[in-house]
Amino acid sequence: MKPTQAFYNGTPIAPPSIHLTTEQKMDLLDWHPIFTGRCPNCERPIRETTPPRSHWDCAECGWREDLA
Ligand SMILES: [Zn+2]
Repeated sequence: MKPTQAFYNGTPIAPPSIHLTTEQKMDLLDWHPIFTGRCPNCERPIRETTPPRSHWDCAECGWREDLA
């Protein structure tokens, strides 16, 4: 058994995401346009689209989610 592997009733428990801590996920609620409806850079409204966007970007200032 690896010391870093956690088990619950003998079942391995998936490790927490290494990408985002809970705190970082909470931060998303404050700035991400999917939650705020605004560009986090220039604060212009960014509308949800149909079908829903997979990538968020701002036509006003060029902010892109994948560069954030
Ligand atoms: Zn913007």
